[in-house]
Amino acid sequence: MFKALVVEKDEEGKTSASVQEIGEDRLPEGDVTVAVDYSTVNYKDGLCIGPGGGLVRNYPHVPGIDFAGTVEASEDSRYKPGDKVVLTGWRVGEVWWGGYAQKARVKADWLVPLPEGLDTRQAMAVGTAGLTAMLAVMALEDHGLTPGQEPVLVTGAAGGVGSVATAILAKLGYEVAAVTGRPEQADYLKGLGASEIVARDELTEVTRKPLEGERWSGCVDAVAGAMLGRVLKQMKYGSSVAAIGLAGGAAIEGALITPFILRGVNLLGIDSVMQPYDNRLRAWKRIASDLPMDKLEAMIQPATLAELPQLGKDILKGQVKGRVVVDVNA
Ligand code: NDP
Repeated sequence: MFKALVVEKDEEGKTSASVQEIGEDRLPEGDVTVAVDYSTVNYKDGLCIGPGGGLVRNYPHVPGIDFAGTVEASEDSRYKPGDKVVLTGWRVGEVWWGGYAQKARVKADWLVPLPEGLDTRQAMAVGTAGLTAMLAVMALEDHGLTPGQEPVLVTGAAGGVGSVATAILAKLGYEVAAVTGRPEQADYLKGLGASEIVARDELTEVTRKPLEGERWSGCVDAVAGAMLGRVLKQMKYGSSVAAIGLAGGAAIEGALITPFILRGVNLLGIDSVMQPYDNRLRAWKRIASDLPMDKLEAMIQPATLAELPQLGKDILKGQVKGRVVVDVNA
């Protein structure tokens, strides 16, 4: 038997989440069984725990879109008992049972061996949000971003992706301008390495101007909505925006086409879910080398399985700071 947060749906379609003891025979099919140490709370998890079930495809369901732990049994030659592994994406926690449990069973292809220099708690302090932040930075670099230019903008900076992106970019020598709607988080963001704090309101006002002064040499955008429409007009000639999320709304507003035509701006979409093994491994190795671990500690909010229903609500309201690390054995 093992403990898990189980989401159930009643006959009227109402969902409820509770911590339950369940048998191993209930684990889904897969070739690797993992004793989970830690999971996290991402925006998608908030949707999956909350009313209506969000992205959940079958009930009863164990959410948790990422986890890190130790291989307990493996039918795949790449993994043996005792190996430390990390999982992100592949619709685990939505279609397949996820990390809000002391045990998980998944396909070997979805795992990555934990890179040297990271333990399972640190790996989940990074989690899906941090992996996405790293993929975004790598995409900006692949499109020519180098230190020593105008600041790189990070939107939704006090959130999960934004916090890790801020710390990575600062460590790599970029000047980082962090956008937040929570002025009380300015010291936290400066502690992560931001050199400038930009108030959310300054960038959410929709203007009729087709272009504005060039302010940013790159951008990691977690917010989209009105802010992305505004930011695109302020990008430097030939620069790129790595769009990772839509915490501020799915529509982009404003005079959209001008930045692309008149300034050659690139809009790069980043998806962490279906990243092939080699890309994930490359990103995790760079996380181990390029993310300052002392900064990662400052981002962590510890949690237990029982606290997840409330934390799911908090993240949907944009009220979580940094990264929630769930100790599934606490
Ligand atoms: P968080 O909730 O931790 O962070 C989002 C941040 O966005 C908030 O903390 C807040 O930052 C800001 N924000 C929230 N609402 C608004 C608003 N209405 N207008 C402007 N800013 C707002 O979430 P994550 O960082 O984990 O994820 C961010 C987004 O990225 C989500 O949409 C998520 O689904 C997506 N995502 C995408 C992935 C991918 O593979 N592409 C992977 C992981 C996440 P502040 O208070 O500092 O302003």
